[in-house]
Amino acid sequence: MTGPVDLVIGVLALQGDVREHLRVLAECGVTARPVRRPTEVDGVDALVIPGGESTTMSRLAVEFGVLEPIRSRLKAGMPAYGSCAGMIMLATEILDGRPDQESFGGIEMTVRRNAFGRQVDSFEAPVQLDGVPGGPLHAVFIRAPWVERVGPEVEVLGQVEDGAAAGRIVAVRQGNLLATAFHPELTGDTRVHRLFVEIARGAAD
Ligand code: GLN
Repeated sequence: MTGPVDLVIGVLALQGDVREHLRVLAECGVTARPVRRPTEVDGVDALVIPGGESTTMSRLAVEFGVLEPIRSRLKAGMPAYGSCAGMIMLATEILDGRPDQESFGGIEMTVRRNAFGRQVDSFEAPVQLDGVPGGPLHAVFIRAPWVERVGPEVEVLGQVEDGAAAGRIVAVRQGNLLATAFHPELTGDTRVHRLFVEIARGAAD
């Protein structure tokens, strides 16, 4: 084959900031489309899981019949990127979730929902990401989770740098799966999405 692979990246469109992710992906030069049905899950090369509310996303994933299809595609190696609630959806274990809350899994980690607490519900901080040149990202956290435990296959890409939460893990990668506790789709900085597109292209080659 000649030329770049014509990649289609889906954005899980059950709930959350779907449009923002679609816009950034388009800016990165890939075809991006919303995904909410099992056949649409089959039709994409990679999947972005947006920020929003993981308990709602979990319930809707069951209702729309995409929980198992997404789980099995992730097991088969489909690249995925989750921001905030999307990070929670990619975790194998959730703390402070609802008892009936499901996740897709894929990244062997324990995340704590709303981990930064009430006082610092939402905040912004610079986060340096491994593998992302150009200086720290301006990370926007909105009722964000953090990662409390990672499995041996998980690479820690970024941590909070100072303040009470210094050292907390907020960006990880396991193989073709990427997750951030913050929302790069809200800042106009396309570097995290470009990293994900690179991962997805690598997997499609
Ligand atoms: N607190 C939300 C949850 O538990 C995540 C918030 C977000 O995605 N901005 O799903």
